[in-house]
Amino acid sequence: MKTVTTLVSDVLGGHRLTEPEAVLLLKTKGRDTLAILAAADEMRERRVGDTVTYVRNQNLHVTNICKNLCGFCGFGRKATDEGAYCHDKAGIQEQARLAYRRNVTEICLLSGVHPGFTLDTYVDMMHWIHEVAPGVHIHAFSPDEVAHAAHRGKMTTPEVIERLKAEGLGTIQGTAAEILVDSVREVICPRKVPTAEWVRIIKEAHRAGMRSTSTIMYGSYERAEDQVEHLGILRGIQDETHGFTELVTLPFVHHNTPLYQQGLARAGPTGREDLLMLAVSRLFLDNFSNIQVAWGKVGLKMTELALLSGANDLAGTMFTDDVTGDAGASGSDYLDPKDMERIVHDLGRTLRQRTTLYELV
Ligand code: SF4
Repeated sequence: MKTVTTLVSDVLGGHRLTEPEAVLLLKTKGRDTLAILAAADEMRERRVGDTVTYVRNQNLHVTNICKNLCGFCGFGRKATDEGAYCHDKAGIQEQARLAYRRNVTEICLLSGVHPGFTLDTYVDMMHWIHEVAPGVHIHAFSPDEVAHAAHRGKMTTPEVIERLKAEGLGTIQGTAAEILVDSVREVICPRKVPTAEWVRIIKEAHRAGMRSTSTIMYGSYERAEDQVEHLGILRGIQDETHGFTELVTLPFVHHNTPLYQQGLARAGPTGREDLLMLAVSRLFLDNFSNIQVAWGKVGLKMTELALLSGANDLAGTMFTDDVTGDAGASGSDYLDPKDMERIVHDLGRTLRQRTTLYELV
């Protein structure tokens, strides 16, 4: 096996990292870590330059009632649980109106997978949003929600995707991916679609002309080998479809989650792991332009360091994020572009607003 120094120099010379090599990089400790972060920063500069982007968006929570009740989640509830809610048309439109007044270009639906929802429910939601927020890009529905709608409506998943697209969906969410290794999914999210189904549905969406984000939720139960297997699956899909707009790295927020409380997960990733995940993703995913840091989960100072470790995108303004807040994080709701500007300027780089599809505004 090559040393970290050789690997880093090879990858900057055009070598495509293998999975065992990426595992070695993720497991690196000590001063070599800094060499990996620096190489990822150089790769970021070559691939996308010095502009740091963000999208003016707002999360819209429809319901926290969820059929999946994943072990890593502090947000999802049973309908009978204290604090369970499901907004009706008026509640959804109130949030969408507020988003529109805030001049967002994107509304992101962030909800549980309500067992009673059907494809028609999803279509109604999009219509209600567009009634009061015309022209806003709707970013919604993970492959797990697509599978749920198909199952409830006795339809195929391509049929569901076609209808969602025809009725106003802008991009599909690459969430519900978590870690695309079934032995891990069986522990952290056993009721979600298995890996092969997630992969099939996201490719169907891309082939239907619907782009998506991609995500990795790391730092709970999985090993570095699983993280890299996951990244390998994403790289393979991107080779085939070029449908991913970005990778979003999502560190596990542990405090209020069953997985942590039952002793099945550690207390989330460390700072070294957060930065290495971004850096190794930048180096390994040679067919991705955009690597996004989740400021709501790592905090503002760590976000600045992430921008020196391969990341080029600050996600969105969000305005609210009950998923992260309910898991026990603080300060995860809203990031003012003025605060983004402060850290980006501090690095000698330029902040630009973008659309969901990375066109500069
Ligand atoms: S992560 Fe999503 S699918 Fe899983 S329990 Fe939470 S809301 Fe439900």
